[in-house]
Amino acid sequence: MLIIDGKAYALEVEEELRARVAAIKEKCGRTPVLATILVGDNPASVVYVRMKGNACARVGMLSRKIELPGDTTTEQLLDTINALNNDPEVCGILLQHPVPKQIDEQACFNAISLEKDVDGVNTAGFGRMSIGLPAYKSATPLAIISLMKRYGIQMEGKEAVVIGRSAILGKPVAALLLNENATVTIAHSRTKNLPEVVKRADIVVAAVGKPLFVQGDWIKEGAVLMDAGYNKGNVGDMDLEACIPHCSAYTPVPGGVGPVTIAMLMKQTVEAAESLMLK
Ligand code: NAP
Repeated sequence: MLIIDGKAYALEVEEELRARVAAIKEKCGRTPVLATILVGDNPASVVYVRMKGNACARVGMLSRKIELPGDTTTEQLLDTINALNNDPEVCGILLQHPVPKQIDEQACFNAISLEKDVDGVNTAGFGRMSIGLPAYKSATPLAIISLMKRYGIQMEGKEAVVIGRSAILGKPVAALLLNENATVTIAHSRTKNLPEVVKRADIVVAAVGKPLFVQGDWIKEGAVLMDAGYNKGNVGDMDLEACIPHCSAYTPVPGGVGPVTIAMLMKQTVEAAESLMLK
């Protein structure tokens, strides 16, 4: 049984990034900046933004925290994003999801310039990524694929079932799996006979947002389990205790996909810094 240790892999990635950030500083005498935008005071979002700021510090980058009130309008948020697009000090822009309901979130995501969209939320970037062109990728899907590569999990020719079809997780991870030559099924709330669909999978990606949703008897013997879920009580979207006896490898929760998501955000910010600051 292989435990796909996201915490350990995130540390490896961070170590490599520290060296790359140091090289940028040495070459141009400036420190890369990730701008994080938090609208309102959703407690989970506050924690996520803080964690991303801490990760910047660990790899030697600066984070600029922009906190906007909960009644911010779409126009105000667009103005903030445009200012950051034009700020030469800023290499990456992260708009923490979700934003309050009155804001057109996708319009704001799409306003982030492609060269600074280090969280991979712009629809043009999604399109480029889907057809295999260079683009910053949505961080959690990139984390899932990177973890499988790091731990030697073969994707080519495998049946992969992704449960969930959100724009930031289910759909992009399905596109990335397809680019890796897996045979991909995307399941969602209208999928019929979900347990039977999941039972076909050599690789199961759970991105449902429901605690302990995937059951042990849905899992094909020897499957690889990638649990992207993170719910109250520190549990994922799979009932891991029941699923683990059937699988060959799994991501623990916590300590699986979560830490690598932040590491991938850092990695793409460093890539953006290299292309913006060293050109
Ligand atoms: P989301 O936008 O709420 O999407 C959930 C998806 O699950 C939807 O496509 C929905 O189908 C599907 N679904 C809901 N009930 C279902 C059911 N009974 N059967 C089959 N499919 C069902 O959630 P998300 O933003 O993609 O997040 C998913 C999970 O990943 C959450 O646990 C979240 O906390 C976690 N997450 C983790 C990270 C990280 O850094 N580790 C980052 C982002 C999200 P419909 O489209 O038909 O409604």
